[in-house]
Amino acid sequence: MLEIDAGSSIEDLLRGSGLPRHEAELLLRSALGCERVYLIAHAGDTIESSNARAAQAWFSRRCAGEPVSYITGWREFYGLKLRVTPDVLIPRAETEQLVELALARLPPGSSARVLELGTGSGAIAVALASLRPGLRITATDVSGKALDVARRNSQEHAVGIVFACSDWFGSIPADSFDLIVSNAPYVAAGDPHLERGDLRFEPRLALVGGDDGLACIRRIAARARQYLRPGGSLLLEHGYDQAESCVVLLRELGYTDVADFRDLAGLPRVSTAVWGG
Ligand code: GLN
Repeated sequence: MLEIDAGSSIEDLLRGSGLPRHEAELLLRSALGCERVYLIAHAGDTIESSNARAAQAWFSRRCAGEPVSYITGWREFYGLKLRVTPDVLIPRAETEQLVELALARLPPGSSARVLELGTGSGAIAVALASLRPGLRITATDVSGKALDVARRNSQEHAVGIVFACSDWFGSIPADSFDLIVSNAPYVAAGDPHLERGDLRFEPRLALVGGDDGLACIRRIAARARQYLRPGGSLLLEHGYDQAESCVVLLRELGYTDVADFRDLAGLPRVSTAVWGG
């Protein structure tokens, strides 16, 4: 990383960051509290040394591997700015596909009853509530700290969601939901990806789904049958190589209309199914 002396410009700082341009820009934007267009328009301006030091401290953390979103404290998901902390999984672009598929089953004006299991930052529930204000959404997590983050995101986006601390369905009273959605942990315990990139910093609780990654998905798919109304839908995000296992599982459990969808990167990512009806 370059030494920044008095008189360094925004451009000098970005170039000296040692990071890919988009990451350096994201960090600097957050440090200065400005938009990207400001960085471009003021590229040649001298940066105040206290701001330069703050940005460089963040660049160093990123160079040491810490995820950008944990450093800045936010991440954009489905056009919404969401708070994230190391207590929650960082919302991923591929999960927007899960939101899309849920929205396609929940027409505008719908007052359907929706259950999201393992909400983490609240990304899915907050996105659904923002786009379909009439929905009656319950969102759960087993982690109280994750629920604090999710609650804060729901307040900041002024959406009404009922939050519940629950180990999957454990504390949810018998009910009849129109749609159940979950991006449950699905990484296999020994998966080497857990030791790489952002995953090293994220909560294992939110990532690991037993030895083959499917333990949580199996539990959810089995129990959801008691919580869906006839004709209600189950939508589950899964790993790129788990589509066939999920489809077989859902069929064996008696679901109908079982289908699997690819994410924007073209990888199999979400299984959907209908209960009874
Ligand atoms: N999509 C995450 C990954 O990068 C995993 C999320 C999850 O386990 N639900 O591996």
